[in-house]
Amino acid sequence: MIVVIVMVLAVITFLLAVYLTYTGSTATGSTKAGDYSAAGILAVIGLIALTMASFTLFQSRRQVAEMKIEIPKVMTTIECRKCGTKTTREFQRGDFVFKELDACQKCPDEKQMITAIYKEVKEKEKTYAV
Ligand SMILES: [Zn+2]
Repeated sequence: MIVVIVMVLAVITFLLAVYLTYTGSTATGSTKAGDYSAAGILAVIGLIALTMASFTLFQSRRQVAEMKIEIPKVMTTIECRKCGTKTTREFQRGDFVFKELDACQKCPDEKQMITAIYKEVKEKEKTYAV
């Protein structure tokens, strides 16, 4: 919420600068050089504050958006061709479908094979409210 306060202050500063510039330029004869420089400094400060505030706001919003995105896990299904035992584990580098792995725990003479590689879908996305 600090960002909002900074933004409001920035807008006020900027508006004050605009007001000073306006009154300074219209009040002919009584125009002082000091008024112009003060207005200019205020305008610059206001603009910098506004830019920083909007940048901070943009950054924080992007962080929230990034936090919401969950990277789906890639899963690998390993199957024994003899007894049909299925095991699922996280995808490892070098995995590909029909790749032969270590022997099955139940049948030592039969090698396990990768039968599927897929992205894990969250249960939340599957269910629908009726
Ligand atoms: Zn087996």
